[in-house]
Amino acid sequence: MSPSDPSASVLVIDDDPALRRTICSALRRESFEVRDAPDGISALELFRNSVPDLVVLDVQMPGMDGFTTCRALRSLPGGRTLPIMVMTGNDDPDSVARAYEAGATDFISKPFHPRLLQDRVRFLLRAVGAFERLRRSERHLAIAQRIARLGNWVLELSAGRLESSGEARRLMGLSEEPHTYADLHRHVLVEDRERTLSAFARALDRREGYDLRYRIAEEGQDSPRWVQEHGEFVQDDDAGETLLIGTVHDITEQVLSQRRIQELAFQDVVTGRANRTRFTAALGDAVAHAGETNGAFSVLFIDLDRFKRINDTLGHTVGDQLLRSAADRLDAVISGCQLGQDAMLARLGGDEFAVLASGVGDDEGSLELARKLVSALEVPFVVGEYELVVSASVGVSRYPTDGQDAETLLRRADAAMYEVKDSGGNNVRVFNRSQRDGADERLWLEASLRKALDRNEFELYYQPKIDLQTNRMVSTEALIRWRHPDRGLISPGWFIPLAEETGLIVPIGEWVLKQACKQQRQWMNMGLPLESVAVNLSVKQLSLRNLTGLVQQALDDAGLPADALELEVTESMVMRDVTSAVATLARLKQIGVGIAIDDFGTGHASLRYLREFPVDTLKIDRAFVDGVCKDTDAAAIASMIISLGQLLGLKTVAEGIEQEDQRDYLARGGCNVGQGYLFSPPVPAARLAAMLLDQLKVAS
Ligand code: C2E
Ligand code: MG
Ligand code: MG
Repeated sequence: MSPSDPSASVLVIDDDPALRRTICSALRRESFEVRDAPDGISALELFRNSVPDLVVLDVQMPGMDGFTTCRALRSLPGGRTLPIMVMTGNDDPDSVARAYEAGATDFISKPFHPRLLQDRVRFLLRAVGAFERLRRSERHLAIAQRIARLGNWVLELSAGRLESSGEARRLMGLSEEPHTYADLHRHVLVEDRERTLSAFARALDRREGYDLRYRIAEEGQDSPRWVQEHGEFVQDDDAGETLLIGTVHDITEQVLSQRRIQELAFQDVVTGRANRTRFTAALGDAVAHAGETNGAFSVLFIDLDRFKRINDTLGHTVGDQLLRSAADRLDAVISGCQLGQDAMLARLGGDEFAVLASGVGDDEGSLELARKLVSALEVPFVVGEYELVVSASVGVSRYPTDGQDAETLLRRADAAMYEVKDSGGNNVRVFNRSQRDGADERLWLEASLRKALDRNEFELYYQPKIDLQTNRMVSTEALIRWRHPDRGLISPGWFIPLAEETGLIVPIGEWVLKQACKQQRQWMNMGLPLESVAVNLSVKQLSLRNLTGLVQQALDDAGLPADALELEVTESMVMRDVTSAVATLARLKQIGVGIAIDDFGTGHASLRYLREFPVDTLKIDRAFVDGVCKDTDAAAIASMIISLGQLLGLKTVAEGIEQEDQRDYLARGGCNVGQGYLFSPPVPAARLAAMLLDQLKVAS
């Protein structure tokens, strides 16, 4: 029923038939739905059949009087909050008081004008309606607060009196009695109390809003709850004083899940041990601590020798189980050795573990520990139905002799470990002082380069090649990039020479070849007008017996036609062993791929050989392109290469064009294709496709 609802129902109870009739018809005129009863007993009967919105009740009735009827009505279902208006005799303050005691809502003294009754009934219904709405919204608010675990309170500063919602009291463990702000904090943990109260005092002093976070001890619970309290000072004009209005919010779940997330960020999921991030941080702390106390410690880098093969052949589930068992064994050794308090085992990734051996600073101690770790891993592992044999290589570095920061220590332990690996694994070694400095850097680079392929750290960038006559992008050159997790993007000029020296260029080059072919295929599938992709070959690759087979395989894997691939070999590479280079290039040409001579003009190829080379393209070295507009010699060489190309029926590509006058000069001279920062630096594949789409949009 709404207060303005004219069809509200009223039950009229009076033993005087004339008065009853008058009242009923006055109310009916106001469109109320009216029922009436001559006495208490029949009224209760009517009430039970249907609960009215309001009762008008005479106090003086024979038999069951109005007070008793009022009490009886209140006890019936639906009667507790029902508005009951009693009619009392004039000048009878006693009856009025008794009526209120019996549960009446309002009274009207007889005799009264029917008009007055109409107004009073309407007013009472409206007031009760508003009250009911308020109560409902309070109830809803209380439920909402309970769901949100959010309570609120108001502190009257002058009186020091605190009123709080049910949820606030529940959260803070308070009873219903009047409270003070100090009561609110009664169950705050002792450890948090001083901090929070002094923060509160500061806020109070400055009349500034504040936020507190503390723990509450909860009865019967082992762990405390976390509460966030927020307060704001509000000037209450009605009360003419400042109020502090606040909320308390149970944030236990939030805090716990934040902790969990943090833990996970520092934990290796497979073994539950510390991960690299956590280990590096702990190493940093150990360095700081040892620095202050003149202490020493060692770092042991452990790599399982045959793990990769097991993982590849038996799958990750077996591999993960093996890693867990290995971690358990390493832990057992560490706790058996009674290292310092901060000793830690971590899994750095893949099959690599590391130990921070606090308190072990000398070679003997650290080597002994390393040997124990190796022998613990030598015993075969049983995982499900398999008996697995792995061994380990361990490298050791020591603070402060081998390094004074976390990164160096870890890197040098890693380098020492690689020495062990290189001489067959299953052994231990302390970082060798003489390898430090230059060699150290190289070792580190080599060690990380070995892992880079497995860790997916290589990326291919593509540089557009532009047709100098039409100004359109026609093809690309794939250029490798190494995204090192600590050092960022490393350019090939830096790591390719080392990759060549160590032979790593072979697997890396194979990856480049496959990746570039796949990319070119994808672009062709997308309908992008790119004729071909160029891939640089290294001298090591050129001397591979099965190079043609590898190239064919890459083409087949990608489903790429051979003429969409061009291979770039440098002039100096070819000149090392002309006969065999010519033979290799001829085989490659036979399967249909294009051949370009890179950095042409610097490698002293004589015209005689050039005629024999089965090539399609000459790439004019950047040094000459750079000089075409300022150095007559350079310009002459560039022009000569272009003419030579025309003479031999070869395409010419100018690399490293950075300026418009260089492009114009070369285009005028008849050079076919240009490549350089003027058009674009090498970019990731997606960026290149976007550039090309833009170019097509402009053209259409
Ligand atoms: P490159 O094959 O002669 O490649 C051209 C180099 O010149 C690229 O350097 C390119 O970024 C750079 N360049 C392009 N336009 C300009 C320009 O306008 N101005 C200047 N100053 N430089 C420009 P990047 O990518 O550092 O590659 C260097 C070399 O590393 C390459 O020379 C190539 O010999 C080798 N390389 C790159 N990727 C691979 C690869 O996947 N395999 C092998 N074996 N070698 C690669
Ligand atoms: Mg090249
Ligand atoms: Mg080049």
